[in-house]
Amino acid sequence: MGRFEETEIKYLKGIGEARAKLLASELEISSFKDLLDYYPFRYVDRSKFYQISELTGEMPLVQIRGHFVNFIIEGEGKSKRMRGIFTDGHRMMEAIWFAGISKLREIYRCGTEYVMFGKPTVYNGGWQMAHPELEAYDPTRPPTGLQGIYSLTEALRRRGITQRVIQTAVRNLLSHQNFATIAETLPQAVTAHYRFPSLSETYKALHFPEETQLLQRARQRMKFEELFYLELQILRYSQRRNHQLKGHIFSRIGDYFNHYYSECIPFELTGAQKRVLKEIRADMRTGRQMNRLLQGDVGSGKTMVAFMSMLMSADNGFQSCLMAPTEILAGQHYATISSWAEKIGLRTALLTGSTRAKARREILAALASGEIHIIVGTHALLEERVEFKTLGLAVIDEQHRFGVAQRARMWGKGSVPPHVLVMTATPIPRTLAMTVYGDLDVSVIDELPPGRKPIETWLRTDANRAEVNRHIWRQLQEGRQIYIVYPLIHENEKLDLRSLEDGLQRVRDTFKDVEVSFVHGQMKPSEKEYQMQKFVEGRSRIMVATTVIEVGVNVPNATVMVIENAERFGLSQLHQLRGRVGRGADRSWCILMSKDKIAAITRKRLNIMTSTTDGFLVSEADLQLRGPGDMEGTQQSGIAFNLKIANLATDGQIVQAARNVAEAILAANPQICGAQGEKDGGGVMPDSGLLDVAGDSTQWRLSDSDIHILAAELHRRFDHKLDWSLIS
Ligand code: ADP
Ligand code: MG
Repeated sequence: MGRFEETEIKYLKGIGEARAKLLASELEISSFKDLLDYYPFRYVDRSKFYQISELTGEMPLVQIRGHFVNFIIEGEGKSKRMRGIFTDGHRMMEAIWFAGISKLREIYRCGTEYVMFGKPTVYNGGWQMAHPELEAYDPTRPPTGLQGIYSLTEALRRRGITQRVIQTAVRNLLSHQNFATIAETLPQAVTAHYRFPSLSETYKALHFPEETQLLQRARQRMKFEELFYLELQILRYSQRRNHQLKGHIFSRIGDYFNHYYSECIPFELTGAQKRVLKEIRADMRTGRQMNRLLQGDVGSGKTMVAFMSMLMSADNGFQSCLMAPTEILAGQHYATISSWAEKIGLRTALLTGSTRAKARREILAALASGEIHIIVGTHALLEERVEFKTLGLAVIDEQHRFGVAQRARMWGKGSVPPHVLVMTATPIPRTLAMTVYGDLDVSVIDELPPGRKPIETWLRTDANRAEVNRHIWRQLQEGRQIYIVYPLIHENEKLDLRSLEDGLQRVRDTFKDVEVSFVHGQMKPSEKEYQMQKFVEGRSRIMVATTVIEVGVNVPNATVMVIENAERFGLSQLHQLRGRVGRGADRSWCILMSKDKIAAITRKRLNIMTSTTDGFLVSEADLQLRGPGDMEGTQQSGIAFNLKIANLATDGQIVQAARNVAEAILAANPQICGAQGEKDGGGVMPDSGLLDVAGDSTQWRLSDSDIHILAAELHRRFDHKLDWSLIS
């Protein structure tokens, strides 16, 4: 038999074959270690007994002392239920059971003093607890402190695996004679530095905390550990890649850049644009391949940064491409970029799926011969037949629609991979960015061009529709254009489509004689294109659409964005939509329409939109409310996040610390990195400026046994799960 913690769970006292199967299928617990790592998801204070009169609507689990005065069995078959009338001596409440009734009726008695434990809810004007836990009150036993609550599935509960069963199983494990032999999972250097409790102490405190402080320490250790290995893995991977991939060296700033900058640029760059350009420039001359994420709120001017970077590429004799997620967006980018490039004699082209065969042949030839300097396009750019003479820079707009695999294909074009600049308007908090986009360096444009009028955001319901319509009328009379967006999250949902078509009808009835464009994802591309173009040119005044217009469309004359069923959108998506207005010099509005009745949490979410126009604040709040799993961009990041205890949204400081220590350890112990090891100092490390723990690097030179721990943990956590070949 192997190590204690690797023992199969069926061998644990009180578990056995049948329960082991259930635990494996429901909770993925198959070894002792898995059970130890199944931490309670919350803790309740079991030292306090509540009075029924103290209960309120938001309470989590509570315990109440008292006795039953009566049991009533009602209904037949499936609808059979038992109600137990319970009193704490002052007031009454009710316990209710929907299953296992005959057995329970035998166990529970009237008059016996019980401690009843569960979540109180309001029912029929009184308090009720469904399937509470009950135990006889024992005055000789001191009230226990914190009790861990495990997340269990309905299937487990039905098969008798209750909180109690899990607690007992964990207790048996912790008191097992071999428990002390459990292998430490953090290097000694780290536990010593942070004075973390040992792994066995940590498990004890997590499952059966004797006091809050110990619990806090234990949770911190486990969060740190989880994030530390994640960061270590990300860094290790990106260092390996940095060593393998040599990049083109753009050593010169030449005529194209200088001439454009001094003679042709239509506006003064913002400070943030200048700073980011410097960062890009510095990257592209190092000799390693640039992989940079450019984050900037909608309208912050990313396109000009991309274009100026392309000029650096041209100055060094290289071609550039810009890849956009949709034809419409590619077309708009092309219009912008070709008008800029024309001024300094650079040749541009547009290549999409609908480029005609003859034009395509010409473009491909001119691209291969190097006559075209800049090509803008869609996925079509990734096709086999597309060959560059010397591709030096690939710009990708809106990262989350492409994903890592496609970036990799981009790199595949040419023996030395091009520098890659990924632009996204979905701002994510820094700590998340450095983890989600762990293999990318991050630049941020955190400043909008001057003169922008902030967009006013209103939250309105159906009851306010007349007011909203009046507002739209006034704007139409001033010559402005209007967007009205409907959710069509799954483009094939019939119901959504009907509400969209109803909406269109209503708009046509309300705004008679106003030309309306209508666009959704199921249309033929040519029809979509036609409708869009009509709106872009101002021939239609109202655009009724789904989120297909979310990305990139630029109509400066549009001043009102109405979003129907706003409660069905994520905040980041609402923010993107809002960014479609406020692009001109006029005052603009974003009007979020919701049902008359929405949940408090939904209202809170939507109120974030009305209170700020800062995309970073919006996404931070979104992250807090929804968790990183739902954040746009995280799924495609290529790194499976399966965090058990750490929370990327709220544990930013721990993320930072874990990152710092991981960096320091990699620097001091190059052998961990694998490959050739690391020789050239801090230069290859992203964010090395943030290092605040390094100090004396000898502190982080690990002993052999610590290295062994690292290797074993990295292997256990990642090596069998991740397909790195996808990326490298
Ligand atoms: P995004 O970052 O959303 O892609 P764009 O690049 O489309 O933003 O820029 C939005 C608008 O702002 C464009 O019309 C662009 O020409 C303009 N713009 C960009 N930078 C500046 C600047 N420094 N000063 C004034 N206008 C700018
Ligand atoms: Mg853009």
